[in-house]
Amino acid sequence: MSSPPPCPACASTLTYEDGLGNYVCPECAHEWPIKAEAATEEAVRVWRDAAGKLLQDGDAVTVIKDLKLKGGGGVVKQGTRVKNIRLVDGDHDIDCKIDGFGAMSLKSEFVRKI
Ligand SMILES: [Zn+2]
Repeated sequence: MSSPPPCPACASTLTYEDGLGNYVCPECAHEWPIKAEAATEEAVRVWRDAAGKLLQDGDAVTVIKDLKLKGGGGVVKQGTRVKNIRLVDGDHDIDCKIDGFGAMSLKSEFVRKI
């Protein structure tokens, strides 16, 4: 958790959270919602591969470890190339299609950008 931002009204840095979803400035009594800032952070989310490189929609990646599929669906082997990924929100944050397997979801931490 980062420290509260300075007051947008008087630039005081003595701001604090009131525990009710707002920041409060003790110097000028200005209050503003914490949520607005959280939403901004969400909008600039970035996806990175296992090596920390930025991923973008349409990138091609390789799988860096064998990935067992649920339900006995086989194993996506290390080194499998995946073209045209699509970045999504969620635990498995990459949507893609893999030859021989069809549509599936991967985790960005298990791929590397080609
Ligand atoms: Zn203030």
